[in-house]
Amino acid sequence: MNEHADPAAAYGRSWYAATMLPVEPRPPLAVDLDVDVAVIGGGLAGLTAAREVARRGWSVALLEAGRLAGSASGRNTGFVLPGFAADADKIVARVGFEHAKDLWALSQAGLDYVRDTIAAEGADGIDPEAGWLYVSKVDDSDELFRTIGLLGDLGCEVEGWPTERVRAFLRSERYFGAIHFLRAFTIHPLNYALKLAAAAERDGARIFETTPALSIDPTGVRKRVTTPAARLRAAHVVLAGNVELKGLLPRVAATLVPITTYVIVTAPIERDRLTAAVGYRGAVSDTDLADNHYRIVGGDRLMWSGRATVWPRNPRRYRAALTSDIAKTYPQLGRVAVDYAWNGTLGNTVHRMPQIGELGPGVWLASGFGGHGLDTTAMAGNIVARAIVEGDETWRKFTPFELVWAGGVFGRTAAQLRVWIKRLTDGAAERRAQARAVAQRSASEPPTQSPAADAAASGSIVPPDARVDEAEHAAPRQQDSEPSHQGAGD
Ligand SMILES: Cc1cc2nc3c(=O)[nH]c(=O)nc-3n(C[C@H](O)[C@H](O)[C@H](O)COP(=O)(O)OP(=O)(O)OC[C@H]3O[C@@H](n4cnc5c(N)ncnc54)[C@H](O)[C@@H]3O)c2cc1C
Repeated sequence: MNEHADPAAAYGRSWYAATMLPVEPRPPLAVDLDVDVAVIGGGLAGLTAAREVARRGWSVALLEAGRLAGSASGRNTGFVLPGFAADADKIVARVGFEHAKDLWALSQAGLDYVRDTIAAEGADGIDPEAGWLYVSKVDDSDELFRTIGLLGDLGCEVEGWPTERVRAFLRSERYFGAIHFLRAFTIHPLNYALKLAAAAERDGARIFETTPALSIDPTGVRKRVTTPAARLRAAHVVLAGNVELKGLLPRVAATLVPITTYVIVTAPIERDRLTAAVGYRGAVSDTDLADNHYRIVGGDRLMWSGRATVWPRNPRRYRAALTSDIAKTYPQLGRVAVDYAWNGTLGNTVHRMPQIGELGPGVWLASGFGGHGLDTTAMAGNIVARAIVEGDETWRKFTPFELVWAGGVFGRTAAQLRVWIKRLTDGAAERRAQARAVAQRSASEPPTQSPAADAAASGSIVPPDARVDEAEHAAPRQQDSEPSHQGAGD
């Protein structure tokens, strides 16, 4: 199918494709061109780099093999979060506290860049919503407070939410405390990318779609990039191709483990029923894994993602698994219908930190953003553009995170095993937390009768709190056992 004729061929059967802003496809590169900077890859990293180079007055051409943001950048769940895919404590352990704090400030600047761009270009179609709740499914408030303390020290605006507050917004008995990220927000990432591309062109960038870079000659002062119909010559080349760089630079691509995750958007759910269950309008995540990241979209639909695999599968296979994840968390929603299902592939580095820097004279890499790419692609695009045009050396802050071979097919298998093992250990910890919660509830109850029955027996008036308790106890409890998942663990 021609990607220009049918957006679904480029963007998948996604809710984003169904709600994308009208856009004219850009033509392929048809004649040889000479520029200061060639950017390879039209995802968010490449688009930001191209725009920031153009804004500084240098000539720049961007080559995109398919359609702009047709890969991870236009298919993700749209959470714009501070930080990195690597855990904060691991970054501190590797580079020390002060260095880690500088890196966090850079990620925050990336997030602010997205916010400022939306403010300047207009929020229509992007529909930002504030906040991210990172919810725990175990009752370990010590661990939560330790993480909140570290994030606060790194300069991140967070607050701790106790279980009661979490459950007042997210009516799920699976949930305990949460970390609330106040400056995080959600976006329609495809429409954001399209507006970013238009802004880059206004600033002077030239963008060519359906133009794969087939080979690069990086030697010499002018690098040569060959495409099917024409050649591009440039003093600098920015590689922003993510996992799909494998056709062009297999050894660079081999430093990434491709992880495919699956996203569904439900059919409209009656608004009162939906918001009674999910009363928080920002982003929600309840694991470290790719599982269970969700938010309300379009006012009355639930977007839900998860079920990572290292080899891409048909997203239709994951509809049942993802709807059973919804049912397990919010049984009160009943059976939900799915209108859209798609997948996207991100690139994980071994250390979970992005790859930003100069590989050789004039050859720049901006890649490996993992599942945390909306702040970090903006950050990387800015850092690389400043390095090229102004000689800025901020990129050197990322040199401790060198290119590490990701292990090829063995690396993928190991990554899949890690996902399975983490899912199993998280599930076991959650079951233990639920068992403790049940034990605590029964210990605080009189042995034989409910407060209401006691009150009735004694002829006294039932206090309002006791009525609430009784109603809660009478409500059907979640099933401990998970319905079987189609394709689970794939
Ligand atoms: C399902 C899913 C959910 C996610 N959710 C979130 C989230 O909520 N928050 C978050 O922060 N991150 C999230 N991410 C991660 C985030 O989407 C990515 O890290 C980010 O979009 C990567 O951007 P990129 O520009 O590096 O790569 P991509 O978006 O993959 O773009 C790379 C582009 O380069 C092009 N290309 C490659 N090789 C060539 C070549 N030889 N010639 C020309 N073009 C080439 C490709 O066609 C592609 O369009 C998610 C990812 C997925 C898949």
